[in-house]
Amino acid sequence: DAKRHGRQQLRAYNPARQADVTAHQRLETHLERAADRGELHLAYQPIVDLGSGRIVAAEALLRWTSADLGRVPPTQFIPVAEERGLIGDLGLWALNAAIRQARAWRDQGHTHLRVNVNVSPLQFGHGDFVQHVQRALDQHGVPPAALALELTEGALIRDVHASNDTLRRLRALGVCIALDDFGTGYSSLSYLQALPVDDVKLDKSFVSAMTQSGPALVEAIVRVAHHLGLSVVAEGVETPTHRDDLRALGTDRAQGFLFARPLDAEDLTARLAVTPALL
Ligand code: C2E
Ligand code: MG
Ligand code: MG
Ligand code: MG
Repeated sequence: DAKRHGRQQLRAYNPARQADVTAHQRLETHLERAADRGELHLAYQPIVDLGSGRIVAAEALLRWTSADLGRVPPTQFIPVAEERGLIGDLGLWALNAAIRQARAWRDQGHTHLRVNVNVSPLQFGHGDFVQHVQRALDQHGVPPAALALELTEGALIRDVHASNDTLRRLRALGVCIALDDFGTGYSSLSYLQALPVDDVKLDKSFVSAMTQSGPALVEAIVRVAHHLGLSVVAEGVETPTHRDDLRALGTDRAQGFLFARPLDAEDLTARLAVTPALL
């Protein structure tokens, strides 16, 4: 099974590193209890419309502050959660928390704000996933269009047939789909045509590479995406030059430290009230 396979892989990879295995297991034990102990929360990073400068969405990013281990970054605990079968519960926790927050923002009048939630491949592949999404939206009375689900290419091409079916059901509900980290996987432009998605999120490595390699690649992706009716969202926008270049290339939206780091919900709320536009 996947659980045992994960552990074997870890040992097979470097059997000498017993210390790593132990650290890994300790992480896992604490992670199992994180939600019950109230150690999880979501940070929200604004996504800005490059035309108007307005914050149009916020990406929910999972944060774990463990009583025993301190802050553990998602790049560390998400893979462990995936390997150890904990990602379903974590993902559901994040989905519900983000939709609850979307409700709160709507109640404050921010009805244009969409919330993006990251979905792991295993979570997406679960037979009940669409029902979970629908139930969470219904429970909080949030319209499906106020939710975007971020999926990586890897999650979708694993089983293209099943993915297409799930994506179509989600889109039939009215939920938006964003292809996350585009540029890091196989990134065949043909996937953009094959998969029913709404947004392409250009990975930050693409954005930073633009400085050295020039705009040709990003330009091509934007052109193909637009031709297919998709929007392009750039990740990892750190400088005014990135922003200006991306805007000149027709990129629709952008996200990155230039605009804001991932924020606590209250801080984003305050910012929405004071500075709805960031350009
Ligand atoms: P991601 O979905 O691609 O999220 C974007 C990551 O880029 C976030 O890292 C964010 O803090 C970071 N980032 C944003 N702007 C900039 C920038 O200008 N420069 C740089 N260098 N980085 C920037 P974070 O929060 O550490 O999350 C890392 C990854 O963990 C996420 O990548 C996502 O794959 C995963 N993740 C986070 N939350 C969840 C979740 O709830 N569920 C799942 N399945 N995965 C999650
Ligand atoms: Mg993401
Ligand atoms: Mg991303
Ligand atoms: Mg990324």
